[in-house]
Amino acid sequence: MPQNTLPTLDCAVIGGGISGLTALYAIHQKRPAWQLRIFERQDRLGGILETRTENGLLIETSADSFITDPTPALKLCKELGLGDDLLGTRPAGRRAEVLCHGRLTPIPDGFQIVGARKLLPLLTSPMLSWRGKLRACCEPLIKTRAGREDESLAAFAKRRMGTEVFDRLIAPLVGGIYTADADKLSMAAALPRFLEMERMYGSLYRGLNFEAKQTPQAAQGSGARYSLFATLRGGLGQLLEKLISNVPSHMLRKGAEITNLRKQTDGLWQLEVNGSEMCCARKIILATPAFRSAALLWDIDAELAAALKDIPYASCAVVCLAYHKKQFRQLPQSFGFIVPPCEQRPILAASFASNKFPERAPDDQWLVRVFLGGACQSTVLEQSDEKLIEIATNELQRILCIRDAPHLQMVTRWPQSMPQYHLGHIERVERIEQNVRRLQNIALIGNAYRGVGIPQCIHGAMKAAEAIVETRLD
Ligand SMILES: Cc1cc2nc3c(=O)[nH]c(=O)nc-3n(C[C@H](O)[C@H](O)[C@H](O)COP(=O)(O)OP(=O)(O)OC[C@H]3O[C@@H](n4cnc5c(N)ncnc54)[C@H](O)[C@@H]3O)c2cc1C
Repeated sequence: MPQNTLPTLDCAVIGGGISGLTALYAIHQKRPAWQLRIFERQDRLGGILETRTENGLLIETSADSFITDPTPALKLCKELGLGDDLLGTRPAGRRAEVLCHGRLTPIPDGFQIVGARKLLPLLTSPMLSWRGKLRACCEPLIKTRAGREDESLAAFAKRRMGTEVFDRLIAPLVGGIYTADADKLSMAAALPRFLEMERMYGSLYRGLNFEAKQTPQAAQGSGARYSLFATLRGGLGQLLEKLISNVPSHMLRKGAEITNLRKQTDGLWQLEVNGSEMCCARKIILATPAFRSAALLWDIDAELAAALKDIPYASCAVVCLAYHKKQFRQLPQSFGFIVPPCEQRPILAASFASNKFPERAPDDQWLVRVFLGGACQSTVLEQSDEKLIEIATNELQRILCIRDAPHLQMVTRWPQSMPQYHLGHIERVERIEQNVRRLQNIALIGNAYRGVGIPQCIHGAMKAAEAIVETRLD
């Protein structure tokens, strides 16, 4: 039987991604005298976030930025003294393109994720047939759906914008963010802003135009609202480093997997570390992927564990490639491109890191990140690194007409990293939260529940930290 090797902790955080690290930091700020630990199974803190530097290149192997509205990530950076290191996207080229019959075509100006704020650019876009254009331009006339039951992205988008705009624009735009199957993705959980627009204004066209009047800057461009995105001069790894340096080092346990969890009769949580060590904690925060939290909670609350296990995950890979600028006849000017599933290509999207943010590559070089996988390309991680590089370089060579091979190639695999917000997700999360409240002295945080973006993870972690410090330590 493993022995207790640590003093009884006031709070143990399990999982050292951005969610767990933010919670640890926030609790330490509010209760500096508390005994705290974070347990991370890998030898590196940060979870899905990772910044690497190589040959003068600053490479984000997963997330490269966060949205500043909602504000939690921005606020946290400022609170940590990183205000001067915040970088906005470059004003030039703030747009994305879409692959259409093998060629890059601009996303029509004013088109945002599932709706159009301007009709003329849709009407003049070469990516749609006349039938598709006319159907899309009828959006302001389409009746609002009665009833409030959850609707999939595919159903919502086809109902409002028509099948062609869904296939050519909406499926790849949303696929790029959620790596999801649009027939299963819950509108209510993933894109509530657009549901709300339909309810309030009767159409996305009117809703987007109303929003544009309120915040003209955010409405500029097409695709993602790039003017609202920010990163840090040293990459998002700089945020991780700051969080880590603001807590005492003895609180950080790397290479420490929680292999078993029990609740003792005196109410204390008992944690088994790497199957060989034991420690007790008055409170715990599970900042692990839902399927891992399910495995740990199975003997404690089977209903809760079953609901957690019901949240599916998708895997993806990111291939980062660096080229010399002289390899291009003409350098791409946009922030990247997305690939609709109907194009039947083996990649999801490409993000032009050098165009998006300054200081990512030396002046004579050009850095790009290619995304593969997601719910609709589920076998991607079965391929070798060499094969993934070959796919990414061949696709870029064909689409961007690049001469010769990249001088740097880096593959990062993210198995089971993207929680899928399927139909009924909100009700599932509400059930999970109810069960968690009944268990007491435990919080569940992370990207599985109320938003996959970094700001939502930070918001969830801050809220959990507040609740944990407010409850009495018995
Ligand atoms: C390729 C990619 C690109 C993305 N791009 C963006 C972007 O540009 N902007 C944005 O806002 N978001 C982006 N995201 C989403 C965002 O990065 C993630 O949602 C977020 O980082 C998740 O953080 P987390 O702490 O909730 O989870 P994770 O980072 O998954 O952390 C969970 C941690 O728990 C640990 N763990 C698991 N089980 C145990 C155990 N039993 N004991 C101890 N530790 C355990 C894991 O090792 C892991 O470190 C992207 C995601 C991916 C995959």
